[in-house]
Amino acid sequence: MALANLSALLQDVNKQYSLSNVLGKIPVLHFHSEFNICPECGTVLITQKVKQRTVFTKVYSEIKVKEHIKQCKKCNKKYYSSELLKLVQKHCNYSYDCIVEVGKLRYIKKRQISEIQEIFNNKYDLQISYTQIRRLCYKLYVLNEKYPVISIEKYPLFFTKIE
Ligand SMILES: [Zn+2]
Repeated sequence: MALANLSALLQDVNKQYSLSNVLGKIPVLHFHSEFNICPECGTVLITQKVKQRTVFTKVYSEIKVKEHIKQCKKCNKKYYSSELLKLVQKHCNYSYDCIVEVGKLRYIKKRQISEIQEIFNNKYDLQISYTQIRRLCYKLYVLNEKYPVISIEKYPLFFTKIE
């Protein structure tokens, strides 16, 4: 009982001191391509557009990301931020740490999807839908095919279809 109270207290502290609560607003992070000159033709790159999206991370909860996409005027090639790609996949709003956490809770700790929702809400101050959790599980499955780290012998549940 005391341990449960302590756990609830720590979750409240986590929420209270989340980055957006401390700053009083959702933090905005800027990401730039590491190239200033086109590696193909040597032309100076210009910023083609700044793309904004919301990203959910386990550590910082909700953040706004502004990606400054550069383009070569001569060969039209576009250059994106490689740092942003290390944080979150293209066309995805949940960072890799969320994907890994969902996978860990689902396949290693064998939590139900509703429990994962509760953990994300209480511990990481993130609202996440049932469908999104399933999508993240699938993303982890696809990533594991590309970069295998999870073995079928150790975690057979990972390789069974989620209902
Ligand atoms: Zn070029």
